[in-house]
Amino acid sequence: MEKILLLAHTEPDGSLAKAAFEVLSAAVALGGELTVGLTGGTAQAGADQIAGSGARFLTVEGEVFTHSRYATDAAAAEALCRAAGATLILAPATSRWARALAGVACRLGGRIDTHATAIAMVNDVPAVTRWFYRQRMEGTLTRSQRPWIVLVEAGCYPAWEGAPGSAALERLPVEVPATRTTVMGVQAPPADEQTIRPDARLLFVAGAGWTEKQSDGATHATAAEELILKFLREAKASLGGSKSLVDLSGEGQAVLKCMTHLNQIGQTGATPRHPKGLSTCCHGEEPHVVGWRFITERRAVNLDANCGWARGKADVLYVADAFEVMREVNRLLGV
Ligand SMILES: Cc1cc2nc3c(=O)[nH]c(=O)nc-3n(C[C@H](O)[C@H](O)[C@H](O)COP(=O)(O)OP(=O)(O)OC[C@H]3O[C@@H](n4cnc5c(N)ncnc54)[C@H](O)[C@@H]3O)c2cc1C
Repeated sequence: MEKILLLAHTEPDGSLAKAAFEVLSAAVALGGELTVGLTGGTAQAGADQIAGSGARFLTVEGEVFTHSRYATDAAAAEALCRAAGATLILAPATSRWARALAGVACRLGGRIDTHATAIAMVNDVPAVTRWFYRQRMEGTLTRSQRPWIVLVEAGCYPAWEGAPGSAALERLPVEVPATRTTVMGVQAPPADEQTIRPDARLLFVAGAGWTEKQSDGATHATAAEELILKFLREAKASLGGSKSLVDLSGEGQAVLKCMTHLNQIGQTGATPRHPKGLSTCCHGEEPHVVGWRFITERRAVNLDANCGWARGKADVLYVADAFEVMREVNRLLGV
């Protein structure tokens, strides 16, 4: 029987983010003895949110554990894993854990797998599912080594919905390791200017067509950017781009300034998870569309009735001018 530990870090206010609730759903579904290990500035609020899970709660708390930093995160996670005596350790695939937990697996003499999309008991043995070769093949694997740390991707499980309560915490003392990094603060754009929103219901993709010459023989990049940003602000959609478009930005050509390589969707870009996707001015070539693997409902707007989306890659293709379509959509949205 596996001893399962869910590892999560709290937010600066002590609460847990959605990704932790999702991995809790995965852990609860496995059955068996569950321990939750929390680290952060404070952890009581986060533990209370999931008190109804019936788990045992171990915490490593303190000002020094508030921010993401390899040395302190690894020390906290190592202490939590050792105290729990866990054989199977599940954690959300946050950038914070992705950075620290491979080193923790090494310290524990265990193994780690990343990008897991599911974990289930098969004949009483945990089996992890993940995609290989840029989301083209899905594989299931087991490991004999323990402890086994598994980073679970966001959006693969529904968030756990049990009752909050009052959790009893077992606080572990951890000697703070020597650190070279001092966290001075966090600089982030206001939420409204963030164009990558993993939790958005809609992925809006812009392709290179937005910057190409249009029927009047001229380019209209500024108008394109205005239309797109207005729509994003109102619909709270996440912005993706084709490789051609994000590459243009790097070459200093007439471009959409809101677009960077972080927005790129596809084989050499991201593979986000959203219930719906709308592609505009993008041809829908295979290296791009492979990044749409986890978009449930796909629609595209393209002037070309014979574009890649028309070949079974989109559920609906609107053969239309995306400038006109988005102008009308914005009008209907009242922006
Ligand atoms: C190894 C490799 C890896 C790659 N990885 C990626 C990747 O990760 N992601 C990725 O995106 N690509 C990737 N590519 C590139 C990919 O093959 C395509 O070249 C790229 O996706 C094309 O981008 P696009 O559709 O925006 O541009 P284009 O092919 O130039 O298409 C622009 C489209 O806009 C349409 N259009 C123009 N004006 C309008 C208008 N007013 N209204 C509506 N439609 C309009 C045109 O009809 C055209 O279909 C990769 C290629 C290789 C070889």
